[in-house]
Amino acid sequence: MNARRPEGDLMAMLRVDQEACVASGLCAAMHPALFRLTEEGRGEPVRGDLTDADDIESAEDVAACCPGAAVTVSDPD
Ligand code: SF4
Repeated sequence: MNARRPEGDLMAMLRVDQEACVASGLCAAMHPALFRLTEEGRGEPVRGDLTDADDIESAEDVAACCPGAAVTVSDPD
């Protein structure tokens, strides 16, 4: 599977494991443009496809801090 497109290349996939999330709210507090909270207070990505390098760096920062280790930023390839 090749997820790359000629324009607006998909650079990374952002996911939150709802089972691992401990509902700290940290992700949405750190980067509300990338994360929001569900009604249960768990984090979820605003968008699953990240195409902006700054967004990817921000998401990786959150992944490193997430107390549930629930956030993953992965290469789409
Ligand atoms: S930072 Fe991690 S544990 Fe906290 S709400 Fe976000 S995904 Fe869940």
